[in-house]
Amino acid sequence: MSSKVFDCIVIGAGIQGSCTAYQLAKNKQKTLLLEQFVLPHSRGSSHGQTRIIRKAYEEDFYTQMMQESYELWAELEKEAGVELYRRTGLLVMGPEKSEGFSKLKDTMQRHKIPTVFLEKQEFNEHISNVNLSEGNGALIDTFAGVLYAERSLQAVQRLFQCSGGVLKDGQTVTGVSPGAVVTVSTGSAVYRGKSVVITAGPWANTLLAHAGLQLPLKVVKINVCYWKEKIPGTYSVDQSFPCFIQMEPKEGEYDIYGLPSNEYPGLMKVCYHMGSETDPDERDKQTDRGDIDILARYVTRCLPGLVPAPAVVESCMYTVTPDHHFVLDSHPSYGNIIIGAGFSGHGFKFSPIIGKVLSQLAMGQVPSHDLSPFRIQRFQSQSKSSL
Ligand SMILES: Cc1cc2nc3c(=O)[nH]c(=O)nc-3n(C[C@H](O)[C@H](O)[C@H](O)COP(=O)(O)OP(=O)(O)OC[C@H]3O[C@@H](n4cnc5c(N)ncnc54)[C@H](O)[C@@H]3O)c2cc1C
Repeated sequence: MSSKVFDCIVIGAGIQGSCTAYQLAKNKQKTLLLEQFVLPHSRGSSHGQTRIIRKAYEEDFYTQMMQESYELWAELEKEAGVELYRRTGLLVMGPEKSEGFSKLKDTMQRHKIPTVFLEKQEFNEHISNVNLSEGNGALIDTFAGVLYAERSLQAVQRLFQCSGGVLKDGQTVTGVSPGAVVTVSTGSAVYRGKSVVITAGPWANTLLAHAGLQLPLKVVKINVCYWKEKIPGTYSVDQSFPCFIQMEPKEGEYDIYGLPSNEYPGLMKVCYHMGSETDPDERDKQTDRGDIDILARYVTRCLPGLVPAPAVVESCMYTVTPDHHFVLDSHPSYGNIIIGAGFSGHGFKFSPIIGKVLSQLAMGQVPSHDLSPFRIQRFQSQSKSSL
């Protein structure tokens, strides 16, 4: 039994917990970061080589948060001394008259985000080997790009430890007892913290059950598909091919997105922005490939330079809320238990700013961003707090 009381204990060392822990340590808080698996691991949501970073969103609040997030990524890069971001631009395509595409376009204009609007007749002068769908508009978020995910995660964890933080992996938290000082138990130790941050990704509800709370979260398995270029280099980052998002594709209900070939030369990552429900402890038992069929049809129609069958399929998970917005809030009954959850497949790019606001909540400060879109209260009719 350890008698030391930490200022904060962060549970879950994915990108959100690691960024939160780093912010706390930077603010001279005695911080413990606990992770159930031996690091690095590929069983949550933060592994893999790449993620998209962009300001192109329909909602003002995401675009606004991204302004500071870009600055914090640049700071992190400097502190870590490694490249974490590569600018590629992001091509957004979507039905010109749809609410989603119009909203995104308006948000970009309202916030004066550097954007190139592509007319249909000039589309292929700028973007080759992509067929723009009939009735679709297109724009480019010019400062968007690729984040090197695995490298970022390791850099943040390293910086956290260099700032005096304590990182313990291979420690599954099996109990959280609320109180003025929160007691956190693992199979082999008991820790105490003045505050606790729960950033457990797909396992959020398992952890929250200890504190009498359940959120309406759905965990889905994502088939991370890489498609072979018929002519190597066609969609390469070195040929300045951008990331892309296809809003409202004909083939399926959810968006399709892609990143230029980069981490695996000759292979382009193209994924469906939804998957089938899974138990996070039994992810690989979910074998549904309906999303891959949707992608194969899209690739055939719109990306003619790719072989329309995936060459590599990896696995990852999303933890999805009903409105696809995050949960960034304090526990409704215990102000010193802070929750970061439900990142719904788009949280990586925000992780430095999420780390900042979660650390502010843990330190009892007023968060520097308006967190009203992310409150637990919005699920009130669905969440049941038994305490
Ligand atoms: C295929 C894919 C593509 C994506 N693309 C993008 C993108 O392009 N842009 C973007 O911004 N975002 C993207 N995302 C989303 C982004 O990666 C996630 O939002 C983010 O990684 C979530 O991080 P997290 O820390 O909440 O979860 P995780 O990374 O899952 O971390 C949670 C951690 O908590 C640990 N844990 C759980 N329970 C316990 C316990 N009891 N005790 C101790 N530790 C515990 C887990 O082991 C895990 O390490 C993508 C996600 C996927 C899967």
